Amino acid sequence: TRLRQVATNLIGNAIKFTEVGEVCLQVHLESEEPTHAVLRCEVTDTGIGIPESRRGRIFRSFSQVDASTTRRYGGTGLGLAISKQLAELMGGAIGFESQEGKASRFWFTVRLEKQASQAAATGRPPESIHGARVLVVDDNETNRLVLRQQLRSWGCLSEESAGAVEGLTKLRAAAAAGMPFQLALLDLQMPEVDGESLLEEILADTAIKDTPLVVLTSLGDSETANRLRDKGAVAVLSKPVKQSHLHNCLMDAMGAAPAPSTPSVPAAPAPETAPATKRRLLVAEDNRTNQLVIRTILAKNGYEVKIASTGLEVLELVEASSYDLVLMDVQMPEMDGLEATTELRRREEGTGRHLPIVAMTAHAMKGDREECLEAGMDDYVSKPIQPLELLQALNRILGSDPSPG
Ligand code: ADP
Repeated sequence: TRLRQVATNLIGNAIKFTEVGEVCLQVHLESEEPTHAVLRCEVTDTGIGIPESRRGRIFRSFSQVDASTTRRYGGTGLGLAISKQLAELMGGAIGFESQEGKASRFWFTVRLEKQASQAAATGRPPESIHGARVLVVDDNETNRLVLRQQLRSWGCLSEESAGAVEGLTKLRAAAAAGMPFQLALLDLQMPEVDGESLLEEILADTAIKDTPLVVLTSLGDSETANRLRDKGAVAVLSKPVKQSHLHNCLMDAMGAAPAPSTPSVPAAPAPETAPATKRRLLVAEDNRTNQLVIRTILAKNGYEVKIASTGLEVLELVEASSYDLVLMDVQMPEMDGLEATTELRRREEGTGRHLPIVAMTAHAMKGDREECLEAGMDDYVSKPIQPLELLQALNRILGSDPSPG
């Protein structure tokens, strides 16, 4: 819990202070003794950085780089002070390096006791993907690194391209040499030529069109996923891709790989992106990080998600389109979740309609929850959102059973 608290704090800051680029969390083994291990967690960002003159005090309570930071980004100036105490209580340390205007790297270490027994070995990778030749086409170096490590841990022989043009060249060269790739993982959002155009080009080339193609996307929208599958992708996976999902997808895709001369048969889509019926959820939440977290959990579990940032937006969206359920944050600017619910229920009066509404409430008090139910909500889940609790609540109301991600 405490480890997560420190990591969440640093990641939260990194996201908050980064407008473009990326935030990356990496964990390394720093040192090891027979009974203990020291882990080093690093959060790097490409954000605003911290000016030299302010570096001395950011771990002090209520300390922020300057008053304009508070105005622009909010916050209390307590996160790092608490993180420092926690890291030190866990036998570690905390620190950072930063380039003003460019990047920051926050790190902390913890000294942890090793488990008594060896963690269960993952077992030998199944023959069908061991030794498989996989091409990864992604412009993002971090993504390539993550995929490379996963693929290699399963014994796949992976190669990478940072762009579509290079990817096509590699696919063609391998096929011409009689050693075609057995699978290609294509990132959807790439500059210049995107994953969709690349997919089309591959499928239009008889020499390589039988390569099973898996598209990776960070947009959780089902429209794009369906279109890509219609065009011929064997699967569309949402990022970040869970190891087990990627593994299953590889197994399926390779099992379904057609013999070189037969026409390509679309393989079964990956389970996480293709539940029997896609439920449409409207998520009302003003905090961007929370939006992202909730969207990711829901998309990975096969829900289609639309986001609203205020109660007023909820009313507009519900008017304009139909949803299976609304997940409603209680505290939102303009019109809060309680008011929005009251208004939605008022509009439903006499129509026989009842749109299920689930409150997301940070309030631990019993009275607050009763207030939600009184306003006309059907259920509530607590914040910060716990994936299992959320999925169970959805299950209770919608009665569907999407596979937990
Ligand atoms: P806050 O609640 O203000 O974020 P913290 O203690 O977590 O409080 O951070 C203190 C200050 O350190 C922030 O207000 C910000 O000025 C600076 N800071 C922390 N993390 C970063 C980062 N990744 N990039 C730039 N500045 C940062």
